[in-house]
Amino acid sequence: MLAAVFEGKGRLVLKERARPRITKDRNVLLKVSGVGICGTDLHILQDPPAHPATEGIVLGHEFTGEIVEVDHGVVEFKPGDRVLVDPHPGCGLCMECRSGHPDRCIPLYTSAEPGHCATIGIFSDGAMTSFVTVPAHSLYRIDPKVPPHIAALAEPLACVFSAAQKLKVQPGDTVVVLGAGPIGLLFTSFFKACGAAKIIVSEISAYRRGVAEECGASLVVDPNQHDLTAIVERETGGGADIVVEAVGPLLPQAIRLVHSGGKIMQFGHDELARPAIPVAEIVRKEIRIFGAFIGKFSFNKLPAIMESGVLPLEKIVSHRLPISRVHEGLKLLKEGKGIKVILNPED
Ligand SMILES: [Zn+2]
Ligand SMILES: [Zn+2]
Repeated sequence: MLAAVFEGKGRLVLKERARPRITKDRNVLLKVSGVGICGTDLHILQDPPAHPATEGIVLGHEFTGEIVEVDHGVVEFKPGDRVLVDPHPGCGLCMECRSGHPDRCIPLYTSAEPGHCATIGIFSDGAMTSFVTVPAHSLYRIDPKVPPHIAALAEPLACVFSAAQKLKVQPGDTVVVLGAGPIGLLFTSFFKACGAAKIIVSEISAYRRGVAEECGASLVVDPNQHDLTAIVERETGGGADIVVEAVGPLLPQAIRLVHSGGKIMQFGHDELARPAIPVAEIVRKEIRIFGAFIGKFSFNKLPAIMESGVLPLEKIVSHRLPISRVHEGLKLLKEGKGIKVILNPED
């Protein structure tokens, strides 16, 4: 089977790999039907990398597929089931998981790089290929009527869903989203569905600003052409209730744009970003700043979101390519010509 393998120093190489076999208890063999290219994949493939990964693994952590084989201990799934995959599931067995803290799952947070999470497709073989083995406790059944290119959005949607829950958005809130990549657009769609009164999206790409409007933005701004701070102050009466940073180094700007007492979500994940923080403004405005890392245990809601069509997920998938064209997909994203590229296996 053709596989996109991370070979270190910014190199992703297409190779023939043998079909994996189930070697661990309670694992299943999945036939991949769609796998997204994530901003994290771009960070991994930077030189120097902006995100760590294990050399020699098949990349791809945002995926969906059909079960073809299950370990004898798996009774809750069967061959033929269509599933969403949580690429970083809590084990359910360790002391932290059994104390109601799967977000501190010991094997999940200690088996990869220190401080990182042992994500499938980053620190072990992922889904930019035809078949992958995954633990049964990472799976969520989904109606086969949801097309694979939509179901493949599960992981980024779970990340946004669990982050947005911290913000407790209310109908009538004013929101600023910095960056209209897939994550910024998913936040925009989510806030629209939750009844936000005004959603201002700041994005330098005209193409992405157009998609943001289709996803529910009430106003889009090119921050290189216009004074974003002045626009936000005018449109929100002094600052937004919520600002989402979905780029990486823009926390100082988020602090400037939020109203006193407001909330900031630092979602953009750039391991190299070291912005200068205006500390006094945090103090004077009494801001709450949240971080959000991985889609923590919000996958259970995703089948219903996808099956109901409550979010305009179709707008977020800009390209569907075979895995053999993965480099073209990466190039589209680097040049800002794509939003979410979904790859399909060919064999
Ligand atoms: Zn991702
Ligand atoms: Zn655990």
